[in-house]
Amino acid sequence: TASPKAFVIGWPINHSRSPIIHRYWLARAGLAGSYDAVPVPVEEFEVFLRTFKDRDFVGGNVTLPHKESAFRACARKTDVAARLGAVNTLWLEDGELCGDNTDAHGFSANLDDQLAGWRDARSALVLGAGGAARAVIHSLLEAGVERIALLNRTVERAADLARHFGPRVVAGALADVAGLAPSTELFVNTISAGLSGEQPVSVDWSRAPKGAMVADIVYVPLLTPFLQGAKDAGFRVSDGLGMLLHQAAPGFERWFGGRPEVTDELRRLVLADIERR
Ligand code: NDP
Repeated sequence: TASPKAFVIGWPINHSRSPIIHRYWLARAGLAGSYDAVPVPVEEFEVFLRTFKDRDFVGGNVTLPHKESAFRACARKTDVAARLGAVNTLWLEDGELCGDNTDAHGFSANLDDQLAGWRDARSALVLGAGGAARAVIHSLLEAGVERIALLNRTVERAADLARHFGPRVVAGALADVAGLAPSTELFVNTISAGLSGEQPVSVDWSRAPKGAMVADIVYVPLLTPFLQGAKDAGFRVSDGLGMLLHQAAPGFERWFGGRPEVTDELRRLVLADIERR
């Protein structure tokens, strides 16, 4: 049989680091297979889904702006994809299109690597209520966090997500961070940095409890101002690169076989690409 071919589709797609990650794993395992970025505009998305099998693809990743449309197109979805309403990993089973969302796995697996003890946190504060915040909240709830404050510039968007996830998630405004900091054990930022690297929320870290843990899922720049502030104040921190690497692993396993490893070498490879652009 021909060697398996996988894709990542999005619009635009040239920013994607997924080809670097999957090609590294293919080479490392000595597997014959390929992984390519394919630009697919919104109006061509459905045709692509109907015809990728004829082009010998076994499946692939889906990124912006297609994650919700991919969810709607799938005949079968994993439980976590159903919970998040978005799909980033596609494959075929008995000729049917199947979808998973691996962002929550990526978030949890990265914190397992970088913030030992995060699963014991009872209270968390999440900044930002976009698509990525959904996966973060899902992970935190699965880990058993009892109370999550979800703060967003557009408070209504945070309130919608809080309703979706139930009473353990409480919505608020970004300014609430000052009052909540003293009772927060785990801080997570999901708000993108601006073009010049600035971030819209600043936390007064002197108010956070001793032993608090701090994660950012943003990885450009790798050390965001949010993380830098927490690090300077002596807190344990986790950057967002590991989430990107870990979210790729379940797809690789489905298309090519074998669970790949998130190595330091892979981290350096992707980091070099981030710094180059
Ligand atoms: P969305 O566009 O869905 O959400 C963006 C969020 O940032 C919203 O909460 C938005 O608030 C907020 N925001 C943006 N600009 C500002 C601003 N100037 N002031 C205040 N709030 C602002 O993006 P995603 O959730 O998909 O992604 C967020 C970040 O996470 C990105 O940087 C992305 O690269 C990163 N990410 C990292 C992953 C990883 O694997 N490490 C995975 C997925 C995402 P509002 O609702 O008010 O507009």
